Amino acid sequence: MSAAIEITRLHKKYQQHTALHELDLHVRAGAVFGLIGPNGAGKTTTLRTLVDVIRPSSGTVRVLGEDPRHGGAALRRRIGYVPGELHLEGRASGHRLLAFYAEVSGSNGSTTSVLRTARDLADRLGVDLDRPVRTLSKGNKQKVGLIQAFMHRPELLILDEPTSGLDPLVQREFLSMVREARDAGQTVLLSSHVLSEIQQTADEVAVLSAGRIVAEGDVASLRLGSVRRVRVRIGGTDAVVARAAFERLAGVEALDVVDHGEGVQLSTTIEGGIDPFLKTLARYEVQDLTVEEPDLEESVLRLYGDRSHADTAPTTRRSSRGRRH
Ligand code: ATP
Repeated sequence: MSAAIEITRLHKKYQQHTALHELDLHVRAGAVFGLIGPNGAGKTTTLRTLVDVIRPSSGTVRVLGEDPRHGGAALRRRIGYVPGELHLEGRASGHRLLAFYAEVSGSNGSTTSVLRTARDLADRLGVDLDRPVRTLSKGNKQKVGLIQAFMHRPELLILDEPTSGLDPLVQREFLSMVREARDAGQTVLLSSHVLSEIQQTADEVAVLSAGRIVAEGDVASLRLGSVRRVRVRIGGTDAVVARAAFERLAGVEALDVVDHGEGVQLSTTIEGGIDPFLKTLARYEVQDLTVEEPDLEESVLRLYGDRSHADTAPTTRRSSRGRRH
């Protein structure tokens, strides 16, 4: 299968700081590829090199078969890009702004049909294109950013934290747009530091941590979703008894138990199956229970921490399909 994006030994230094360490990444044409990682991992840096906003210190980048440094306007027309920090401050209405972009990048079809798609997308996302963009809220500006990326149906969508500022219903609509793009044969590369968003859309995922890819494969094989944070309040026991009951259970880590009124407040991180924990919990009076996805940094560090901080060791990839390049 041909590659929409081929990154080889991409290295980026900002003065003394190395943001990317010899990164290799292969995005198959027609796939939805998720790049996930905690803040500062290097996601934005990677995506910016693909659209020639920044230039690599070394290494090579190929986007739709071309070097972004030399692809010029013709290559940019084949790409829809949403930057991580979107600045829309002009007096123009969303509609005028999009009409301008449609003139510039409307490679697939006429400007009229591109703008028709823009209006449909605006209806779906719920944004008023008649208002000056500078008066829009952060979330509504983000919607305009998404529309400009999708409306000309580019071959490749590069989306940096695309759901930032969107409320959950709009996020769901966005995820449908991504699936439709894939069904239409477009390639989507999106970055996120929210695991659940990637789980719902991406066929393949790379986990970036401190400028290195520490794992790559399908979402299930990475086991990132297998780390959960649990908080529970239970009655009719005390901290000593409860600690003894829970601390030896498989996968239970960072257990914290404190006396709380007639019972205890217990919080822990569980890696792997949650069943042994729930079976033990069921012996008590459960007054409250929350199970959450921990932040990605915690999951990545827990599962791949030693690798993400190894400065000299070669990157080990966890992939259900093995290396593809
Ligand atoms: P976030 O999720 O917070 O947006 P990210 O994964 O997109 O993070 P980058 O923005 O690519 O990460 O940053 C990678 C590293 O490079 C960080 O340590 C950041 O501080 C550093 N960095 C990014 N841009 C610059 C710059 N212009 N000058 C110096 N350092 C930079």
